[in-house]
Amino acid sequence: MNLKHILMAAGAVVFTACGQTTPTNNPVPVKPPTTPMTSFPLQRTEAEWRKILTPEQYRVLRESGTDRPFAGQYWNTKEPGIYRCAACGEVLFKSDDKFDSGCGWPSFSQIAAQGKVVARVDNSLGMRRTEVLCANCGSHLGHVFDDGPAPTGLRYCINSTSIHFGDTNAPAAKPVEKK
Ligand SMILES: [Zn+2]
Repeated sequence: MNLKHILMAAGAVVFTACGQTTPTNNPVPVKPPTTPMTSFPLQRTEAEWRKILTPEQYRVLRESGTDRPFAGQYWNTKEPGIYRCAACGEVLFKSDDKFDSGCGWPSFSQIAAQGKVVARVDNSLGMRRTEVLCANCGSHLGHVFDDGPAPTGLRYCINSTSIHFGDTNAPAAKPVEKK
């Protein structure tokens, strides 16, 4: 069996954009899959999002805005619970995976379950970063970096404005209505 050809075939499927042929059993942390903006299960027009979200939520979630460091609602939250998407209510992160990164934004070492967020290359601000979006509604959450703690080695740096904290047993929260 020709391993190189198998890996190239796998790479052609998974890494079409960058042409890598990295073996799938590589111990390097696996980044979330990339997804085109049109494939999110929950589709709303931007006009609908503007009605549902506050201006600040819209700026961060729909226009890829960023909270100021050490200023968001949850950067220092340590209570047990879950963090849902502030736009659609999907469970995205758990307090068990939240850690004190010192960066001034809520930081998580992993997502609540596989497939809850998707990644997209972000070349804005003269940097090459990996943006993370809610896999359900496509709203901007923050970025993921590879300087997190073991075992994942990942740091999901998330805007407080993009998430909503709640008790683990609480029912799914509805999107926050504009006051
Ligand atoms: Zn969402």
